[in-house]
Amino acid sequence: MPNPLTESLHKGWTLVRNNPQIFFTVFVAIIIVLGFLFTSQVFVEIVVDTQERFERFRVSSMHDAFVPLAEENIETPGILMSVMRDIQANNETIEDFRVLKDIDGERVIIASVKEGEVGFPDPEEDAIYQFTYIDPEQSFNIETIVGNDRVFKTLRAVTDGDDVVGWVFTSASLSQFDQLTNQSIRTAYIVLAGILLVILALLIRHARIIDYTTLYKRLKEVDQMKDDFVSMASHELRTPLTSIRGYADLVTGGGRLSDKDMENMRRIEISAKQLDELVNDILDVSRLEQGRMKFEFSDVDINQVIQDVIESLKPVANQKSLGLLFEKGEVGTYKLDPGRFKQIVTNLVGNAIKYTPKGEVKVISKKEGEKIYIRVSDTGIGLTAEEQKNLFKKFYRVKNEDTQGIRGTGLGLWISGEIIRQMNGSISVESIKGTGSHFIIAFPG
Ligand code: ADP
Repeated sequence: MPNPLTESLHKGWTLVRNNPQIFFTVFVAIIIVLGFLFTSQVFVEIVVDTQERFERFRVSSMHDAFVPLAEENIETPGILMSVMRDIQANNETIEDFRVLKDIDGERVIIASVKEGEVGFPDPEEDAIYQFTYIDPEQSFNIETIVGNDRVFKTLRAVTDGDDVVGWVFTSASLSQFDQLTNQSIRTAYIVLAGILLVILALLIRHARIIDYTTLYKRLKEVDQMKDDFVSMASHELRTPLTSIRGYADLVTGGGRLSDKDMENMRRIEISAKQLDELVNDILDVSRLEQGRMKFEFSDVDINQVIQDVIESLKPVANQKSLGLLFEKGEVGTYKLDPGRFKQIVTNLVGNAIKYTPKGEVKVISKKEGEKIYIRVSDTGIGLTAEEQKNLFKKFYRVKNEDTQGIRGTGLGLWISGEIIRQMNGSISVESIKGTGSHFIIAFPG
């Protein structure tokens, strides 16, 4: 029994392999996340660094102002204490603020914002005081971590003019600032999570598009299969059709048939001919759709082709007692595929006869400037504006009382339109319902 996990993994892998765009999307998502993490890291480092510099500068400036006061009042710590409290009140970050005095080699707290400390020895390590001897004019900063908080300790020597006699010590906590920074980082991560969710949603949506792409590919394959089948089936239909028409000819040509049999044979011939026309139309559609229709261009005598078509369709027009006229203009020759051009004229004149119950069909060839026009006019059933719009669509046929009983496939005009376009021409229609139609072919000069 197949393992469902391996099966899903296999399915997933196949999807990814068939749709390399998934890699791209995942790659973009990873780049965005990494880019975000890198930028926020750099940003936090810059902010922390700037804040440290600022704090150092602030405390040092405060020392610059306070130390001369401490030097003057080292013997009257009461004055110092009140100034120190004022300073602390204006600097929220300051937690400890002490003035220390060297009494017999020991550092004793003589003033502090925490009154309880006064008179006690300094709790700080000796080592950090070494710096103050190197340069008594300078404040020294040491950053330590107490619990989770960054604490900034700053020292400055108090001198009597020559020797170090005491110190000013401040400790500032950066916890408030760190809390603020951490809060901002948390918000940034929430935003990142939001962005990731959006990316995920897009990915899922993208996966749907991928589904559609697969579907589209499949549709194209099926369409191709349909085209191949239509083309193969039409070719295969042709052989038996040719036999049917040939044998029907032979039988009727023998002359030994009764009137009834002759009539039946005629029906077989008509049906076989109709089937042959249908097969030819379908073959043309499949050739045009697949771009397989071949054109062999040569100088074609336009009037001659029209004349030939008129001759061949005269019997059909006569049968309906329709006039079939040709008004020749000086159009000369034009580079066309003669067979395909004849096919178009036959379709237009054939339609004109088919859809004209009485009156006449007239073909006019004319040259205007460099352009050649061929106009096929009839006094037939005509077309409404809506019908004219759909006329050149595949399989479109007008269905009303007038067209009832008239056979056709709805492919002729679509095929003619496509062929004319491929021979650089154009086709248009002008018609009035109930009065007649004009189909106009135009070839540029
Ligand atoms: P069909 O085999 O049906 O004649 P066509 O593509 O040649 O196919 O024509 C499409 C439709 O256009 C016809 O079914 C008919 O309704 C309409 N049509 C074509 N020519 C004419 C015309 N001369 N007069 C009126 N209707 C026409």
